Amino acid sequence: MPQLTERLLQGEIAALSQGITLIESTRQSHKELAEKLIEACLPSSGNSFRLGITGVPGVGKSTFIEALGLLAVAKGHKVAVLAVDPSSTQSGGSILGDKTRMAQLSTHPKAYIRPSASGQSLGGVARKTREAIMLCEAAGFDFIIVETVGVGQSETVVHSMVDFFLLLKLSGAGDELQGIKRGIIEMADAIAINKADGDRVQAAQEAKSAFAKALHLYPPKESSWQPKVVTCSALQHTGIEELYSLLSNYREQMEANGFFVEKRKEQNKYWLLQTIDQQLGQQFYDHPKVKKALPKVLEAVSQQELSPFRAANQLLALLH
Ligand code: GDP
Repeated sequence: MPQLTERLLQGEIAALSQGITLIESTRQSHKELAEKLIEACLPSSGNSFRLGITGVPGVGKSTFIEALGLLAVAKGHKVAVLAVDPSSTQSGGSILGDKTRMAQLSTHPKAYIRPSASGQSLGGVARKTREAIMLCEAAGFDFIIVETVGVGQSETVVHSMVDFFLLLKLSGAGDELQGIKRGIIEMADAIAINKADGDRVQAAQEAKSAFAKALHLYPPKESSWQPKVVTCSALQHTGIEELYSLLSNYREQMEANGFFVEKRKEQNKYWLLQTIDQQLGQQFYDHPKVKKALPKVLEAVSQQELSPFRAANQLLALLH
């Protein structure tokens, strides 16, 4: 363990991978080691820019991340790409954070790409990603990208672990605002209309205006940041440099007004409470008495023989 920690803190990628595998493990003995590792990395974590990216499959996330990531390494950063995909299972693997999707970035010595932790529970996957961010930072990665396709609530959890949340969109035939999940516009610090190339340039401009108008309808953010809408082509690398500048401006402004630190403090508090909720829930459902009684109680509730509240109290009482 001390050796692994030391190698990780020196930025050795193999050690970082091993460390993340350890935090993803469900074995009890690994959990204790993982906690020690995180503790040891904590003082060296935090020094990064954390960027969340969401967009439907096919919008160009991996192409975009490859373009932005290569630009960031060219500017001197070390780039880590993580993913939150609760639908990925042990066997199925993930379509996010897949190295083959980012061929150039994945072989770059200053980049690290890691697919989503597997598991059915979004809470579990999210916690592991949060911890993975800390390990990456401790290993010297200072530009962290977390991508998600937005299954269920995954945008919300990614939003709660990053400094800046970017929504990738495509231009459509005037229906830009349709089919967009409620709440996602409020979360976005910027919207990038991708594939603004070839015969899609005009449509991308129109989409940009539509989104800019829509954004103005929302009350100003606590940070006083006015969300921006840009167009880009991840394929042709246009608009990527501008987006990078936008991120730099954001960071400068938010550091100047104190919001950067404030937001991270709030996020830490949120993650503390989330972790408690999640672990209490897990302990409850893993308890042998609960496991035994739950099916019967569920049946009784569905047959209306027992009220859900009384049933919950009965089950909770089994823990004492
Ligand atoms: P993801 O599923 O969101 O990760 O999307 P991908 O990055 O895999 O891209 C899906 C498809 O769109 C691929 O065929 C890409 O080559 C293409 N694509 C991505 N970005 C652009 C772009 O800016 N312009 C054009 N024309 N095609 C793009």
